[in-house]
This record gives sequence, C-alpha cells and structure tokens, in this order.
Amino acid sequence: MPHASSKLSPDPAFVVPARQWVAMAALMVAVLAAVAVGLWQFQHRAHEYLREALGNQLQDLAVTIAATVPGDSLAFWALHTGADQWVAPVQVPLTRVRQDTGLSNIFVCLPTGEVLVDVSQSLLVGEPNPFLALDAVEVEIARSGIASHSRLYHVMGSDYFMTGYAPIFDSLDEVAGFVGVEASVGYFDALGQLRRNLLVIGATVVALVALLMVVWLFYARRLARARQALLRNETLSAMGRMTAGIAHEIRNPLGVIKNAAQLLKEDLHEKGIESDLIEFIPEEVDRLNEILTGYLDFARQAPPHRVEVDLVQLLRRTLRLFEQDFQDHGVELIDELPAERVTIEGDSHRLQQVFLNLILNAMQAMPQGGHLALELTQEPEVVKVKVRDSGVGFRPEDARHLFEPFVTTKEKGSGLGLSVVRRIVEEDHGGRIRLEGAPGKGATAIVELPRRR
Ligand code: ADP
Repeated sequence: MPHASSKLSPDPAFVVPARQWVAMAALMVAVLAAVAVGLWQFQHRAHEYLREALGNQLQDLAVTIAATVPGDSLAFWALHTGADQWVAPVQVPLTRVRQDTGLSNIFVCLPTGEVLVDVSQSLLVGEPNPFLALDAVEVEIARSGIASHSRLYHVMGSDYFMTGYAPIFDSLDEVAGFVGVEASVGYFDALGQLRRNLLVIGATVVALVALLMVVWLFYARRLARARQALLRNETLSAMGRMTAGIAHEIRNPLGVIKNAAQLLKEDLHEKGIESDLIEFIPEEVDRLNEILTGYLDFARQAPPHRVEVDLVQLLRRTLRLFEQDFQDHGVELIDELPAERVTIEGDSHRLQQVFLNLILNAMQAMPQGGHLALELTQEPEVVKVKVRDSGVGFRPEDARHLFEPFVTTKEKGSGLGLSVVRRIVEEDHGGRIRLEGAPGKGATAIVELPRRR
C-alpha cells in the first residue's frame, strides 16, 4: 500500500464531482427530449399544413367540377332517375377526371342528399347518400352555397379519406345540388411520405445530438483533466520553489557537518580513540544529500536544453553505471537495444535521469534478483523504450498514484522518482509514460518520446 510521505495528495476539489456528470447527463437527456418534442411539433404542424393544403386543393377541385355540372338540369334528372342517357354527358367526363386525378370518387347530390351521379358506382342513385351524415356540417355549408372540405378520416387498418364539397348553382343562382369529391390512399401518399421522412430526419437529428453530446462530454472531461493538471502544476511549482530554498539552505550546514565529522574522526584517531559511531555521520550526511538532490531535481524549473541525442548510446551509457549493482543484486540484463543509432531531439542529461530512475526502480523491485530487459522500438514519429523487470510488481489500484509526488512504498523512498520522470518525459519532451504491471508479475515502464517537438 503506497503511502504519501507528505500531505500532498490529489485535492478532491480537482476531481470532477459525480454530481457534475449527473448534471451533464441530465442536460443531455433534456436536450434530446427538447429536440424530440420540437421535431414532433414540427411534424405535427407540417402534417396540419399539408392536410389543410390538400383539403383546399380538394375543395378547389370540387368547385371546378361543380362549374361543369348544369345546375338547371338537376331537378329534371331527379325526376328521371335511372334515365342514364340524361346523366351520361356528365358522368363520362367526371369518370375521366377521376381517372386523371386519382380521386376515389366524385358524386353529385341534390340539396336533400339524394344521389344523382356516382362515378364509383358504389352508391345507390336516387337514394340518399348515407355517408353525408359524417360530414353534416360541411354538407350544410355546401347547401348554403359555399365550398368546404371534410376533416381527414383515418380508417383503422386502411388509409386516409377526405371529401371536398362545392355547391352547384342553377341559372337563378340558387343552389341546385352539390358535388362531392373524395380522395383516399394515393392522393394522401404525400402525408405518409412526410411522416416517414420526418421520422428519418428526427432519428438522424437525435443521433447527431447524442453524438455531439458524447463529443462534448469527451472534451469536457479533457478540459477538467487539463484544469486539474494546471492546478497541480501551480501547487507543485510553489511547493517546489519553497523546497528548493530549504534544500539549498540545508546543504551548506550538511557540508560543514560532514567535514567536521571527518576532522573529528582524525582527531580521535590521533588520540587513539576508534569509534564506529563516527562513521555514521558522513554516511547519513550523504544520504541526506541524495534526498536533497531529489527534491532539487523535483523543484527544477529551467527549460530543457534540447540537442540531437542518440538514445541507444545514452541507454548503454546508463546501463554501464549499473553494471556492478546488477552483479551484486543478481540481476540479469536482457539487452534488446538495436545496434544502429536512434536519434531524437531532447535534453540528454534529463533523459539519462529518466532511465536512471526507471532502472533503479526496477532493481529495487527485485531484491532477490531477476531479469531486467531494455527494449527500444521505433515508429516514424515516435521512439518507444520499455524497461521491463521481473520484480514484485504493484497492485492495479495503486497504479494511478505511483506518479504522484511523495507517494512511495519504500522504507527510505522519497516518492519523487516517477514524478520527476513524468515531468521530464511529458513536459520537457512532449512524450508519454506509463507503468504496467501486476502483483508478483513484474512491471514495465513504457516511455514514448517524439523524435521532434
Ligand atoms: P520511490 O522510488 O522513492 O518510491 P518513485 O516515484 O520512483 O519513488 O516510485 C514510486 C513508487 O512506485 C515506488 O515506491 C514503488 O511502489 C512503485 N514503483 C516504481 N517502479 C516500480 C517497479 N518497477 N516495480 C514495482 N513498483 C514500482
């Protein structure tokens, strides 16, 4: 279990709170609902508009047809129902009109509702039209001399029906009868088509909005993370400046203590007094100095000094520094570095520090010895270095904390190594670093460095 050697752990305020995500999700649902309702309203209005337009068209058609029917003849026909030769001159052209326009029926009635002409031949001529009861108001309007149209009937399991009515006038301008123009299925195809198109548009818009929301969420998360990183950097840099000041102040007295201890040892030696205790002083001073160096590295603010660096050469040079340690700790090196030069633009001193820290961590993770592999692979834009060990590994839940400063599982660790590594890789070189591993199965540090920034 890693412990923080100071109080510096991620401020909970930096983490995007769950209720913010819930609010975002609620907003997303609200926007989607608003879009769905908006579209539904649009489709409803468009449907209304189209229905009205079709109704008017039907009404106009009825007026046009009514004008072709001789009003003065209606009363005469009524007296001679069944006398087809009187009706034929009207019935024939109306049949053609019905065929040309795709109407389902055209009929002519007396003001009483008695059928005189029925193009579809489904009504009984001479008898009252039974369907007029459905459109009582519209029929009444037609009887009073004004054209009208019925509402749109949607017969279950069937299609839409609508009838346009127009009065027929005789030569005295009296209403002698009326024309009914019925439209169904094909005529109202436009309505069905509109609904289908709108459904497709609606589904597409909803999908697009959902997609936009996902993208927005993605960027909102990135923004929150960037903000978190910024705040962390600010805190760390303030803390770093303070640490650097203190470290600097402590270094000088430490140097004095070490020298004094050396002199004291010589003095005691001259007086014939030998004490092992005196040896501890310079040893512990050195250790304190090492810790201070870590803190100073961490607090460093200077920009990197970038030059062309041969990474293979740098890695081999770093490995040489560990040769003796590898032997002493029973670590077997697996060298998977390429033979040729691999150059990137970087700060060679800081890059060396990265691999020093990673190799040191790997060695410390293998107290009983083991294997340490160093691998370098190249991609067109990026060079990837893996430091793999067969050590103790770490628990998955600890993984995301290991790069935080002052987090360590070691008795004498500072918890600064990986945070310095991350800063050098990510901030100084624009690269990426991650640590993979499992308890008892070793760990692999993967460093990706762009060839150029
Ligand atoms: P320190 O080495 O002083 O503890 P670091 O920042 O270098 O500080 O490492 C933080 C912690 O990450 C270590 O204490 C250790 O628990 C874990 N760690 C780092 N490298 C490895 C590794 N190769 N294998 C297992 N654990 C590791």
